[in-house]
Amino acid sequence: MASPTVKLNSGYDMPLCGFGLWKVSNDTCADTVYNAIKAGYRLLDGACDYGNEKECGEGVARAIKDGLVKREELFIVSKLWQTFHDVDKVEPITRRQLADWQVDYFDLFLIHFPVALEYVDPSVRYPPGWHYDGEKEIRWSKTTNQETWGAMEGLVEKGLARSIGVSNYQAQTLYDTLKYAKIRPATLQIELHPYLQQVELVKLAKHEGIVVTAYSSFGPTGFIELDMDNAKTAAPLMEHEAIKAMAAKYNKTPAQVLLRWATQQGLAVIPKTGRPAVMLQNLDCFSFDLDEEDNKRIAKMELNLKFNKPTNYFSADNLWIFG
Ligand code: NAD
Repeated sequence: MASPTVKLNSGYDMPLCGFGLWKVSNDTCADTVYNAIKAGYRLLDGACDYGNEKECGEGVARAIKDGLVKREELFIVSKLWQTFHDVDKVEPITRRQLADWQVDYFDLFLIHFPVALEYVDPSVRYPPGWHYDGEKEIRWSKTTNQETWGAMEGLVEKGLARSIGVSNYQAQTLYDTLKYAKIRPATLQIELHPYLQQVELVKLAKHEGIVVTAYSSFGPTGFIELDMDNAKTAAPLMEHEAIKAMAAKYNKTPAQVLLRWATQQGLAVIPKTGRPAVMLQNLDCFSFDLDEEDNKRIAKMELNLKFNKPTNYFSADNLWIFG
């Protein structure tokens, strides 16, 4: 099974359904990547912060060696972590990440969060995480998003990334980027599910020709494994009565309904699972359409409920920007 693609403003085609790599443990990651490619996934969504890029590279290398896929058929996405926003740090860390993946370019490289943190040398700790001391101290860097974006553009000029984009940006950060970008962001990756529909931001991105990738399509489910309180108390989307009714109506699973709700709007999705049968199920999120009544029903499920906020993972009294 193959995913349809969408044309990015960079001219490259990106699969609309990819495979997410957050919280994939190091011991299973190479096999998971290999199995995802075998199942038909061509987009792999990684990041320095996921701490598993070396194992992702091993999975990719094995899949290529076994003839499952060629490098040029894959669409490899990675992300710049906040401690590498300083202009002179962007290229070296990208080269390290490419080496981990065993490839010489990323199809798409994203700014993970629009926040610069003080540099932590990879020999001290890698991935560095949010805290300067690895425990609780948050140290900002003075580098601006404009400076970092300039360095991201340098990656395209050097052939290290084919497309560049942003993640966890809101409207004002995006508008600002568009003022100075010589290369416009190709994609915007944001948390998006029926409890957090991001209607205005999606409209803005579409208007500006930026493709939106929706992450955490299943809402609380992906955060329960992190033992997060507001995820544990939220009603699971896959067990929501309306979503279950739609699944029965279209003869699909609730997960497929949630993914289709996004892809039908032209949004890309990047679900993750370790189970090959579920990999196939999630990839099959294009073969039916939710009707208007069902789309209206989901529109009413908006709660403005965001799970992926750093302050939900740890307490820090200077992270109110994510409030
Ligand atoms: P997810 O969509 O991967 O959902 C995760 C949970 O749903 C897992 O527990 C999985 O086992 C379960 N699941 C998956 N398919 C299922 C199915 N068909 N039926 C039942 N259960 C199913 O959520 P996520 O991990 O939050 O996000 C997905 C990807 O998005 C990540 O892997 C990562 O690549 C990306 N992401 C990016 C950011 C960012 O800041 N840019 C943040 C979060 C996630």
